[in-house]
Order: sequence, then C-alpha cells, then structure tokens
Amino acid sequence: MTNQTTSNASTPDVLVVGAGVVGLACAWSALREGLTVTIVDRDFDGDRASHGNAGGIAASESTPISVPGLFLKATKWMLDPLGPLSLDWRHVPSALPWFIEFRRASNLDRFRQISLALAALNNRVYDDLIPLFEDVGAMSTFYRRGAITLYETDKAFRADATEWKLKQELGVRWRALNQREVQELEPALAPVFKHGVFLEDWSHIGDPRQLVSQIRTRVKALGARLVQGVVAGLDANDRDTPSAVLNTGATIAARQIVVAAGAWSASLAESIGDTVLLESERGYNTTLPQPGVGLSREVIFAERKFVATPLDIGIRIGGAAEFAGLKAQPNYKRSEALLELGKRFLPGIQDHGAVQWMGHRPATPDSLPVIGKSPSAAAVIYAFGHGHLGLTQSATTGALVADLLVNRTPGTPLGAYSIERFRK
Ligand SMILES: Cc1cc2nc3c(=O)[nH]c(=O)nc-3n(C[C@H](O)[C@H](O)[C@H](O)COP(=O)(O)OP(=O)(O)OC[C@H]3O[C@@H](n4cnc5c(N)ncnc54)[C@H](O)[C@@H]3O)c2cc1C
Repeated sequence: MTNQTTSNASTPDVLVVGAGVVGLACAWSALREGLTVTIVDRDFDGDRASHGNAGGIAASESTPISVPGLFLKATKWMLDPLGPLSLDWRHVPSALPWFIEFRRASNLDRFRQISLALAALNNRVYDDLIPLFEDVGAMSTFYRRGAITLYETDKAFRADATEWKLKQELGVRWRALNQREVQELEPALAPVFKHGVFLEDWSHIGDPRQLVSQIRTRVKALGARLVQGVVAGLDANDRDTPSAVLNTGATIAARQIVVAAGAWSASLAESIGDTVLLESERGYNTTLPQPGVGLSREVIFAERKFVATPLDIGIRIGGAAEFAGLKAQPNYKRSEALLELGKRFLPGIQDHGAVQWMGHRPATPDSLPVIGKSPSAAAVIYAFGHGHLGLTQSATTGALVADLLVNRTPGTPLGAYSIERFRK
C-alpha cells in the first residue's frame, strides 16, 4: 500500500472510497469491465461492518425495517435499556430528521413502493453473488440451506401474516412450519417455538471477514491499487477528473469516483453538495468459537429481533439497533443481553472464548441503499446505505455501479435508490 497522490499520467478510471464489502464488490465489477481501479481506505485491516456481520445472504428481506405499526412497538422497546432498540438521547437532535423519514416509510403506500424496490435488488442477488464468489474462491464457504424465522407465540405469528403475504407477492419463497417441523430441522433449539417460517432463498457464508479478505486479494491480483488514507472530502470542480481530498491535504484524482464508505459516506456526499439521511444503526453480536451445539442454518428470533448463524468460526448470536452516532463507545452489555437470550433458546451452548463485537450499519430511513450518480457531479457515483443488507446486496450494487461506470443502461432501474430522494 502507498500513501501517495496520483499523478496525471497514472489517473485511474475509477477511485473507490471504502474497502468494505460494497466498495470491494464495486472495484471487482469495475476491474472486470477492463477499467483501472484505485481503492482508498483509512485502514484496510481495520474493523468495519463488513467484517463482523451475521453472514446472512438475506435475500428474503424485501420489506423495509419501518413496517406499519413498528413505531408503537419501538417506543416500548426503548423503555428496556438492553432491548432490541435503543437511542442515546444526546443523539436525538441530529437524528430527528432521520426518524421523521423513518416513520414516513411505514405509510402503507410508501411501504409497498419500498418493498418493490428492495425486491428488485434482492431477487437478483444470487445472479450477482455467485460469479463473485466463484472468482474469489468463496464457493466452498457459501451455504445455501435456507433460514428459519421462529415464533414463540401464535399472536406474533399472526401479527406478521400480512407481511409474509406481501413478501410472497414480491417473489420471496417461504413455507410455514409447525413446532414439530422446527424441532426436526433444528434439534438444538429449545422446544418453545410454536411456529416457524422456512425461507428457501436465504443462505449464509462461513466468515464475512474472510470474504472481504478474499475479494481484496482478488482485486489486487486483477490490478487494483490500494492507497491508505482518510478521505476528508471530494472535489468535483474539475468535472472530468474529480478527486478525493485526504486529511493530509493530498489529493487522488480519477475519471470517476465511487463513494462506498458505509456509515461514513454522508459527509463525503455533502462535500459536493448532496444531502442524504444516513445514520449508524449500531449492531452487536458475540461469536462462540466452540459452541458445543449445532445449527444447520441461520435462525431468526422474530419476537426478540436477533439471529444466530452457524459460521465456520463458531455460532454468531446478535442483532440490536442502537442509535448513538459514529463516535460513542460500544456498550457490550448489548452483546451480553443477546447472548443470554441465545443461551435460553440454544440450551447447553458454551461461551468459552466468546468474542464480542459492535458494527455500524449504514442505515437510510427507508431501508433502501443509495446507488446512482451524484446530481451535483456526474463523475461521482454513490454506493452506500445498505443497512441490514450490505453483504446481501454487495455484488448487485457492484454490478449496477459497473453499468454506470461504462455508461450502460443499469440492469435494474435506479430511480428508487437515487440520493435525490433526500432533496428537500
Ligand atoms: C450486527 C450486524 C449484523 C449484520 N448482518 C448482516 C447480514 O447478515 N447480512 C447482510 O447482508 N448485512 C448484514 N449487516 C449489514 C452489513 O454488515 C453492512 O450493510 C455492510 O457491511 C456495509 O458495507 P460497506 O462496505 O458499505 O461499509 P463498511 O463495511 O463499514 O466499510 C466502509 C469502509 O469505508 C472506509 N471509510 C469510511 N470512511 C472513510 C474515509 N473518510 N476515508 C477512507 N476510508 C473510509 C472504512 O474504513 C471501511 O473500510 C449487518 C450489520 C451489523 C452491524
């Protein structure tokens, strides 16, 4: 890696800002188009959402987080300091516009529109992920075994019926399971789940961090140049050759720039005059390297809003949504609270060598990512804001960004994902 600026002679076709799974997938797709690529990241080995997530290819998640009725439930959850949702009150003033939009997203018409737009991405994720996984050598740790959403009560199962029906209309394949069928599929679970929903199109990978490393190794082999540096802003005054300005004052110019800096992307968009509502939705988990019990597939605990995934590196138990901004220290009591719940539902699970983690989901209020050209600078392309689905939608985002980079009509119309939806 180098700390240098580029010279005119070596101006790359594309500069990707951010080496999480989304930025790397964009770089990979651009390289496959024959473009020259530089990637800048403040710390290629440092932690990021893409390293510690649950590893789920959650292609069935085609409805937004802001489901009708959630706002009322959310108010109750916030009364429990270790519940599924928490808000640092010091962060409220700056997050207020985000929450207002979040509430609006649950309006029935808007909810449907967003769901269609999510499905348009999710229904193609395997077409995009499989070539990427094949090329980087990740197929042997890609497990297409579905997932099960679990319900402890009839009431909660019935309450989600409308959402399941909508998901079916959107192309999601699922089937209801009774208590016995749940137990047969996942014998390690405590026998407390009255209902389950088997999600055929969900899958998981062996280790998200390893996948990031595999893609990074591959893009380097394909010729990408990796530059370590903190991007302080963009400069698009030169329309043909915009540049990233580092905090050292150095600049990296490119013919096109892709902003894929995850939860840190908003200030980069703002530096060229584009507004976006983006929050860090902080999530927590614990990885149990020697759990002593087994799961065959990811399980989603519907009422408690957390998941357990059987990764190659152990069972990872986590979830939660904490709004406290990008700088607050992690509160690992959240990891502990989720682990306690996990122990209740996976009796006998061992926590020897447990590793706790917190990561920043780049969350928009409508659960749709930002993919598309900047309205302020046509040579700047956005690829961030994937919230809970950044791994799932990474290769699809890369493919769509590549369409834009080479001036091809995008394989999926991009209107719904434009940053212009945040323009007042
Ligand atoms: C607990 C949890 C569980 C999750 N589970 C799943 C799941 O099962 N499936 C799924 O699909 N998604 C899941 N997600 C979401 C997923 O992890 C994210 O959506 C995804 O990792 C975002 O990827 P990214 O590349 O956009 O961002 P990141 O991985 O955060 O990468 C951003 C990169 O940009 C760099 N960067 C930022 N600012 C700058 C700057 N100014 N200059 C230079 N570099 C910069 C950072 O160093 C980083 O490398 C989960 C998230 C969490 C927190």
